[in-house]
Amino acid sequence: MATDRPRPTTADQLGSRLPLTRLLLDALGRGAAAIHIDPLPEGASLKIRSDLGLKQVGLLTRDEYVALWQNIADRFGAEGAEPFLEGSFNFRASGQSCQVRVSIVPTACGEAITLKLNSRETKALPLCRLGMTEATEQQFKRVLSGGRGLILVAAAPGQGGTTTLSSALTFLVDGPRNVISIEDPIEVSLAGAQQVQVKMVRDVPDRSVTFARALRAAALQDPDVLGLGLLRDAETMSAALSAALSGALTVARIHASGAALAVSRAVHLGAQRQLLADSLKLVVGQALTRKNCEHCAVEEDLRPIAKALPWTDVEPFKGRTRLGQGCERCQGRGHAGMIPFFELMPVTASSSRLVAQGASASEIQDQAIRDGMVSMVSAIRQRVLTGEVPLAEYVRHL
Ligand SMILES: [Zn+2]
Repeated sequence: MATDRPRPTTADQLGSRLPLTRLLLDALGRGAAAIHIDPLPEGASLKIRSDLGLKQVGLLTRDEYVALWQNIADRFGAEGAEPFLEGSFNFRASGQSCQVRVSIVPTACGEAITLKLNSRETKALPLCRLGMTEATEQQFKRVLSGGRGLILVAAAPGQGGTTTLSSALTFLVDGPRNVISIEDPIEVSLAGAQQVQVKMVRDVPDRSVTFARALRAAALQDPDVLGLGLLRDAETMSAALSAALSGALTVARIHASGAALAVSRAVHLGAQRQLLADSLKLVVGQALTRKNCEHCAVEEDLRPIAKALPWTDVEPFKGRTRLGQGCERCQGRGHAGMIPFFELMPVTASSSRLVAQGASASEIQDQAIRDGMVSMVSAIRQRVLTGEVPLAEYVRHL
């Protein structure tokens, strides 16, 4: 793929019409969490993701796309030979600053570029502001106060998992416990915790802070609580289990679309089922759904939808729901803002046995519901019934 990689032909093409700085300032001004530059045969599509969802904000000519690609590659020092590129750089201009995490993936039309924007000034939300119900929040706090074992925060990317993890760590910092958190990148600053940034220095292993090195160093500081930014591979998974089994309360984020699926994901990352069953105390599943715009949502007949989606049981909705139509207030989208949903799966003796025996995610989920868990899907269904959430969001999370 390296030979296909676009290169600017003249120096003045470099960011001449769409410099990276202007793009980033514009995106930050719109409250964007990410910028997507998707190549097309003739150029590229420019989209931004914010609380309002993903929106196309412009089209780039081939020259603009090439110039932008080069701008970005120069900023994080990409090497030309690698087909998949990952990296980050710090951005600061006109009073705005953020960390930009870059991911470049080759596609049929060229290279798709994603820029995730993390504002370093972000402060952790207290647990009471995450949007949990009172009962869920109290249950979460009880387990966090419990002292040891592994707590997983399970969410798909972009569904609020980082926010929940940092809120949990902030709650723990408040007590008399030594909190160390190993992250890549540090997205939220946690006053009172020791946050370690994993950092790879190309070709200089001695100066690199690998996950394993950070963890060995952290263990020497007697952490009572260990936060792990994301369990992404066998190394981080094994580290989380080892820390949890050796006595530290370990709170880690994992990419999974629900509490029970987090168990499958952990096993997929190399967790031994018995060790996972012995250490796992709680899984917090989390998802975000779009919220109907309250200014333009009208009643919607579900019968045509039921025909189009025969696998969706619309019976509980009694034939009607509400759907935003698009107005000036919601910029024509029909939805405004997001609603977070949580499911708390405490690992009981029964579910622990299922984890150890290799039960499927649905068996573990059924047991959790018997143990009292209110599933995210049923919570979302409730909010469809009240007209706050469009049916499509419920279908998306089934
Ligand atoms: Zn509206």
